[in-house]
Amino acid sequence: MRYLSTRGKAPALSFDEVLLTGLARDGGLYLPESWPSFSAAEIRALAGKPYAEVAFAVIKPFVGDTIGDADLRRILEETYGAFDHQAVAPLKQLDERTWLMELFHGPTLAFKDYALQLLGRLFDHVLQARGQRITVVGATSGDTGSAAIEACRDRAQVDIFMLHPKGRTSEVQRRQMTTILSPNVYNIALEGTFDDCQDQVKAMFNDMAFRDAMNLSAVNSINWARIMAQIVYYFVAAVALGAPDRAVAFSVPTGNFGNIYAAYAAGQMGLPLSQLIVGSNSNDILTRFFNSGAMEITAVRPTLSPSMDIQVSSNFERLLFDVLDRDGAQVSETLNGFRANGRFAVTDAQLAHLRRLFDCHRLDDAETLAEIAARHRASGELLDPHSAIGVAAAGAAVRDHVSAVVALACAHPAKFPDAVEKAAGVRPDLPARLADLYEREERCTTLPNDLSTLQDFIRDKRPPADRRGAA
Ligand SMILES: *Cc1c(COP(=O)(O)O)cnc(C)c1O
Repeated sequence: MRYLSTRGKAPALSFDEVLLTGLARDGGLYLPESWPSFSAAEIRALAGKPYAEVAFAVIKPFVGDTIGDADLRRILEETYGAFDHQAVAPLKQLDERTWLMELFHGPTLAFKDYALQLLGRLFDHVLQARGQRITVVGATSGDTGSAAIEACRDRAQVDIFMLHPKGRTSEVQRRQMTTILSPNVYNIALEGTFDDCQDQVKAMFNDMAFRDAMNLSAVNSINWARIMAQIVYYFVAAVALGAPDRAVAFSVPTGNFGNIYAAYAAGQMGLPLSQLIVGSNSNDILTRFFNSGAMEITAVRPTLSPSMDIQVSSNFERLLFDVLDRDGAQVSETLNGFRANGRFAVTDAQLAHLRRLFDCHRLDDAETLAEIAARHRASGELLDPHSAIGVAAAGAAVRDHVSAVVALACAHPAKFPDAVEKAAGVRPDLPARLADLYEREERCTTLPNDLSTLQDFIRDKRPPADRRGAA
C-alpha cells in the first residue's frame, strides 16, 4: 500500500514513512492511494470476534508488509488488552434505536487513546527496525496532552516533552500529565499562555538545525495512523448491530474531523452506512458548511466541550480531496485561497453529493447541559458534554428510515465533572484506574517563556542516540 498527499506534490510513501512523517512536505495529508475493500462475507465474518482481531483485519491492508503479521497481532493485543473494558468499545442501548458506543476505556478516558495507544507502539516498532529515536514535542491547554504522554511513556525509541501553560489547566488535567513518572516523559509548565506554548513548539519545528538534531516529531491528529486506528471501532459497532445486512448511522461529536472521517473511510471500505451526523458546539464552522456549502472562519469561542473548540478542522482536507476528484492541485488552490480569505465554497452538486451521507446538528452550551440533564433523568446515564452533543445530534438529525444510530461517547463524564454536576446534580466518580490521582507524586519543570532555555532543556534531557544504543 502506497500513500498519496492530498496536495499532490509530495512523493508517495510507504506505511512506515507516513507514520513517522505526519504532515506531507507539500503541506498535505497522506491518504492510501486506494481503499482496501471488504466484501459482505468478509464483514459478516468479523461478527463476535475480539476487538484486537477485528483491528488486525481492518488494519492489515493499510500496513501491508511493513510490519509482519505476528508482530502486528502482538502489538494490537498489547494495545487493546490494556484497556479497562474487555469489549474495548462497548455498546449500550439508550432508547429504541439509539446506541452509545463508549470510547473512554483507555488510560486517559477519551477516545484519542484508541488511536494514540497504538501509535506509540507502532512508533517503537518501526523506529527500532530503522535504528532511530524521535523526540516528540507538543503543546496542550490540558485537554489532549495526557493522551499523547500516555502513548509515549516507557517507549524505548521515544522521548516526549509536553508544554502546558503554568497554572492554567484544571487540576485533574495537570495531574493526568505530571503523575506519569516514566523516565522518557518531561512535563514543562511554561510561564505563559497556551498560545505561548504553541508558538514555542512551532518555533522549535522551524529551527531546522534543532529539528534535525533532535529528530523532532509530533503526534497530532493529522497522522494517517490515527485515522486508521479509529476505523476499527466503526466496524466493531456496525457488525454488532447487524452489518453488512443492516446499514447503521453514526453521530460523532466533531472538532478536527478526524473521528468522523474514519467513519467515512469505513464506508469507503464497504461498511454499509445509512448516515453520518456531524455534531458541533457553538464553534459550528462544519455545521454551517454542511448547510450552505461554504467554509467560513470565525473566532473560536470557549465552550463546555473544549475538545471541539476549533476554528479550522484540519482533517476535512481529506474529505475535500474526494470532493475534488482526488485532484491535489485543486485541493492546494482551494486551501491556499481559504488561508488567504478565510472562506471557500463547494458547488451545489458537490454539496448535494456530500449530503447523501452527511447531516449535521449544532448545540450551544445551554442545550448541551439540557441534554445531559434529560438523558440522566430518562435512563440514569451520565454523559460528558462532548458525548451529549453526539447523542442530541443523533436524535435531532437521524433520518426516518434509519433503524439504528450509534452516538459516540468520546470522553468519560469524570473528565468534565463540573459541567456534568451542573447539569445533572451528580458529580461523576473517577474510574478505578484514576481513583488515587490526587495522592500520586507529580513531576514537572517550570521554565520561562524563552526559546533557547527550552531548547537547552531538551538537548540536555534527551539522551544521545548512542547512549541508549538505539542507533
Ligand atoms: C478530540 C475530541 C473530539 C473531536 O474529535 P475530532 O477527531 O477532532 O473531530 C471530541 N470529543 C472529545 C472528548 C475529544 O477528545
